[in-house]
Amino acid sequence: MKINTNYRNVADSYLFSTIAKKVEQYGEKNPDEAKDIIRLGIGDVTLPLCDAVITALHGAVDEMGKKETFRGYGPEQGYDFLRNSIKDYYESKGVSLESDEIFISDGAKSDLGNILDLFDKDNSVLVPDPVYPVYVDTNIMTGRKVQFADATEENGFLPMPDEDVKADIIYICSPNNPTGAVYGYDALKAWVDYANRNNSVILFDAAYESFIEKEDNLPTSIFEIEGAKNCAIEFCSFSKTAGFTGTRCGYTVVPKALEGGVLNKMWLRRQTTKFNGVPYIVQKAAAAVFSEKGHAQIKETLGYYKENAKIIADTFDRLGIWYTGGKNSPYIWFKCPNDMESWEFFDYLLENVQVVGTPGAGFGKNGKNFFRITAFGSKEGTIRAMERIENLLKK
Ligand code: PLP
Repeated sequence: MKINTNYRNVADSYLFSTIAKKVEQYGEKNPDEAKDIIRLGIGDVTLPLCDAVITALHGAVDEMGKKETFRGYGPEQGYDFLRNSIKDYYESKGVSLESDEIFISDGAKSDLGNILDLFDKDNSVLVPDPVYPVYVDTNIMTGRKVQFADATEENGFLPMPDEDVKADIIYICSPNNPTGAVYGYDALKAWVDYANRNNSVILFDAAYESFIEKEDNLPTSIFEIEGAKNCAIEFCSFSKTAGFTGTRCGYTVVPKALEGGVLNKMWLRRQTTKFNGVPYIVQKAAAAVFSEKGHAQIKETLGYYKENAKIIADTFDRLGIWYTGGKNSPYIWFKCPNDMESWEFFDYLLENVQVVGTPGAGFGKNGKNFFRITAFGSKEGTIRAMERIENLLKK
């Protein structure tokens, strides 16, 4: 037996454990101050599932308890009722899909990793830096080398294609984690054109699309861009849209126009072979997100997080600190003051105002002098944390 030695090349994931350790050590030395630590580092939602989702869940659970309505294995690619709701959702954005281009899964993370089954090892991979670490690690686990597209203050953390760089598989996440930056129509069109010219595939992560509103005039799906169906696969999730981080449901769109339908067929084959579908009750809950009630209720929850994001962004505006995100994203990514490095700034915030965020260095080399704060905390905690940060930094 030989193990997959590529796993040796995956960097240990120290970021959140190092943060937890630092907070714990601080608490041991400063028990009084530690009682009032405010955590704005979290990337998880904190508000509960909305009523429409809970009602759908209860209804589906009752169905499972009756012989006439009990369900066993469902279709691996998802029930039609949910795929059709998603199809209608895309239609409302002006994107026409066929329901068999939509695949339901237990979340975007699994699909982002699993999709690599469809591609030869001998493909060049381009990932932005800083980045959601899953894109890098899943490629390294399969033995692929990754090259990085630098996201920096100069390009607003939105790198553009470079004709001198050859990339077969390109990752784009917009609105972005960790930077909160969002590509506009023209910028995404440039990526789509590059991909079509170079026979590349774009793996587009739209996990935060619901933070964009109609009046923002920004793309919420890569398929809003002409030509994207020939070169892109889109990953989306109910996690941040509707608080499903613990309930688990997402979806992936593999257009039939891509590679003459081959990738759509391969993904179906992959999923029917290695996956047995998302629970019926969870798919019922996800479908409720698209009901009139569900839509209004998730909008309210998203509004709560967006208000927190605005409180954070307004503080940095007043302080004159450069940042991205905060408008169409639960993340605010700002430049550490006085050229501080992100871990140094982490300690500075913890020790002086007992606020915890996430050092940008944890997301890639270009995050070295940047820091991520999230809007997933409570409004009250966000206000207090930002007052403390403002008082500290305006000195
Ligand atoms: N993509 C991005 C950019 C994320 O930030 C996350 C979660 O934090 C995911 C995907 C994972 O989503 P899911 O919960 O659907 O697996």
